[in-house]
Amino acid sequence: MTLADTLERPRTAAKVEHFDVLIVGAGISGVGAAYHLQDQMPGKTFVALDSLESFGGTWLTHKYPGIRSDSDLYTFGYRFKPWVGPPIATAPEILKYMREVIEENDLARHIRYKHKVLSASWSSADNRWTVEAERTDTGERHAFTCNFLWMCQGYYKHDAGFMPEWPGMEDFKGTIVHAQTWPEGLDYKGKRVVVIGSGATAATVIPAMAKDVEHITMLQRSPTFFFPAMNRNELADILREIKVEEPLIHDIVRKKMLYDQEVITRRCLEEPEAVTAELIEGVRAFLGPDYDVATHFTPRYRPWRQRVAFVPDGDLFQGIASGKASVVTDEIERFTKDGILTKSGQELKADIIVAATGFHMCVLGDVQFDIDGKPVDFSETVNYRGMMFTGVPNMLWIFGYFRASWTLRVDMLADFVVRLLKHMDANGYQRVEVALRKEDHNMPLLPWIDAENFNPNYLLRAMHQLPKRGDKPEWQHNQDYWRERDEIPLIDLNGAEYVYR
Ligand SMILES: Cc1cc2nc3c(=O)[nH]c(=O)nc-3n(C[C@H](O)[C@H](O)[C@H](O)COP(=O)(O)OP(=O)(O)OC[C@H]3O[C@@H](n4cnc5c(N)ncnc54)[C@H](O)[C@@H]3O)c2cc1C
Repeated sequence: MTLADTLERPRTAAKVEHFDVLIVGAGISGVGAAYHLQDQMPGKTFVALDSLESFGGTWLTHKYPGIRSDSDLYTFGYRFKPWVGPPIATAPEILKYMREVIEENDLARHIRYKHKVLSASWSSADNRWTVEAERTDTGERHAFTCNFLWMCQGYYKHDAGFMPEWPGMEDFKGTIVHAQTWPEGLDYKGKRVVVIGSGATAATVIPAMAKDVEHITMLQRSPTFFFPAMNRNELADILREIKVEEPLIHDIVRKKMLYDQEVITRRCLEEPEAVTAELIEGVRAFLGPDYDVATHFTPRYRPWRQRVAFVPDGDLFQGIASGKASVVTDEIERFTKDGILTKSGQELKADIIVAATGFHMCVLGDVQFDIDGKPVDFSETVNYRGMMFTGVPNMLWIFGYFRASWTLRVDMLADFVVRLLKHMDANGYQRVEVALRKEDHNMPLLPWIDAENFNPNYLLRAMHQLPKRGDKPEWQHNQDYWRERDEIPLIDLNGAEYVYR
């Protein structure tokens, strides 16, 4: 054998392991999937593969100062594990919560880290997926087969954030960082910082850095909605005071939060002007009557077309009121050697520029799928209730909610997977897929998300890669937790859209 033979030989897996279910991802979705599968179907064998070195996904990847949730942990936490802290939690607190879930339920033995899933091939002859993963540390290939593939891979690339190209970036003499790939030990004490962006990340990083920097500026193209409120829950505090047990507190506070969120979501749709005025008033209360709220905090879109970030204790606005932080609403003309020149001619001097410019959306973890050797193009499939794809057997995708906590859908779809697997076992089915029914054949096929309803840039940028949506409830991810809470448990698994073999 020549050296070339050795180098070019594909590193194919030496052995193939089989599991009933293979979960891709060990973030909040994958760990939730593993918990429910073990709890509700103890007889099933399963493995969860994650390319990172530990569990947590989003909460492991993001390390920028102050990293925290923007929705409350009573609903972002799982329904089965009480949340006992303040509603908004830091990444380390969320990771601690997830570690407890893994330890209390002995899930670690089912999770393999540093396993990047590269491909998934369905064989109709065997009614199985063959999944190939690469060890991120050794480069070794491992192969698995499974009957059911549960995709819990999140929605964006974990290794790099979305960094637009601006003219003159190479001229800038200072440091440019992306919030998603925060360099360890970045020293920003006494420095001038400009943060590009005004989403939840900017709203987190600015108050966290404000106390140490000389000055920090939020440079935004257009304003965002924020919801400043105390980071405590009075109902939870009272229930704790009177010694109600934590599982019951979790249940009650969760129900109350979901009720309140439903009211606000409905109001956003029914009376957007009133909700807009209330949100802006909430910001003005921190910034005072002379602050130019009209320019900097009055968005051009309706509330809830993009996620409204909760700002605990209004810390972002406290930073602005103190003079340590400021907001510039303008566009970038170019970078200069000392900072950023805006289109209106203002130069923002900076030592550090932080791009809080969002994600690179990634459909299904960049895994190459094929069905009997034919590559799957997900943009040609139709998405069933935001969880399954026409023509793709024995696979379910977790994509949570934009307007409610993601994890609500993790628990809900886990119940669905369990019901589906039990139905298949009871009937001796080995294969399930969703297909358009006779009445669906002339259905218009639309972009996956209705931009009138929800329009963050990372989704709009990736729409061409996403599956299609129909104009009937079955073929839409309706993003409505409160409707799905009633509808999903009642789905008729013998409905015409389910095809079994
Ligand atoms: C900074 C930030 C804050 C957020 N705050 C909130 C919030 O407060 N409330 C809310 O509801 N949502 C929030 N979100 C959205 C958030 O991403 C989700 O709520 C949730 O954490 C997603 O969990 P997940 O497990 O589905 O995906 P992720 O957290 O993205 O985890 C997916 C995992 O799958 C792994 N993976 C992906 N592809 C592969 C592959 N090919 N092979 C192997 N492994 C793979 C990844 O390594 C990762 O560990 C936030 C997002 C960000 C970025």
